[in-house]
Amino acid sequence: MSDWMCTGCGKVYSTDQMLKLKLVKAVESDTNPHQQHGFLSQCTCGHVLMRDEWSKHSSVLIVTEDGYNTFTVLVNSWFIGLNHKFGDGPDQFYETIVEVPALEYEKTFRYATQADAETHHAEILEKIQNGEFRLIPRIRYEFNLTEDE
Ligand SMILES: [Zn+2]
Repeated sequence: MSDWMCTGCGKVYSTDQMLKLKLVKAVESDTNPHQQHGFLSQCTCGHVLMRDEWSKHSSVLIVTEDGYNTFTVLVNSWFIGLNHKFGDGPDQFYETIVEVPALEYEKTFRYATQADAETHHAEILEKIQNGEFRLIPRIRYEFNLTEDE
């Protein structure tokens, strides 16, 4: 059930098929790939799987609703190579992770195509700019139990 996609030609390989493909150095300039970056599978079309794949990285500042705090929101999208689909669901070869590191917030979205990933990546950035993606401060109360003497 593990499918790997070549973005060069769109061919999909099972893990067994992918492991039988020709191996090439992960980094061309490596002089000893066994001790450096290792090897990657090369599709019959010539494309090296998981090398030079599409990705998009954005960083946006967001101010909390009360205006007191500013946090960095990271929006990272990329081709993940291995299909992450569930059962008979749609293919999931791409993902976007929205992250607010200071708040340990993280949300993952997955897509079948690069076009879907690019569209949703842009939509997320737009929602942050339009204020549809908001950070609402939580108020915490602390109590001390004291007794009058
Ligand atoms: Zn290919």
